[in-house]
Amino acid sequence: MGEEKRDSGPLSITYMADMPYDYHAGFYYSRFLKELKDNKRIYGVKCPRCGKVYVPPRIVCRDCFVTMEEFVEVGNEGTLLAFTVTNFPYTDTTRGEPKKIPYTAAYIKLDGSDSNIVHCLDETDEKKIKAGMRVRAVFSDTRTGDYFHDIDHFEIIQ
Ligand SMILES: [Zn+2]
Repeated sequence: MGEEKRDSGPLSITYMADMPYDYHAGFYYSRFLKELKDNKRIYGVKCPRCGKVYVPPRIVCRDCFVTMEEFVEVGNEGTLLAFTVTNFPYTDTTRGEPKKIPYTAAYIKLDGSDSNIVHCLDETDEKKIKAGMRVRAVFSDTRTGDYFHDIDHFEIIQ
């Protein structure tokens, strides 16, 4: 019986998935990515009822449930709301490569926007970072229509 029990335990299967894929970004997100890529500008969309600006753009206001069609440029500067300095390995999902550590994930409210974005901050010394600091987008020299690479990172400006 003891022998039988050992043989009936769960097995471990190793599988390395290689599943590259593309998906349609949609009209709103495509407009956002195109402005980043072609003009180094950050665009959102404004609600015709409450006036909130969402970045990245979305079709329907989360509060009013109305369709939003007015695209507006927001600032490439904003306020750091929160951050975390990460020291564990992470795979960049857009490239499938390990991300260099440490890195700082930042929650940012861009000037002129009523929503928040997540991106990376170039400072990794948590003693030098505080919520409320002003930050600025640093665009990549070669942009391809990819949010996390066309904006290379954010830098502290104050
Ligand atoms: Zn609204």
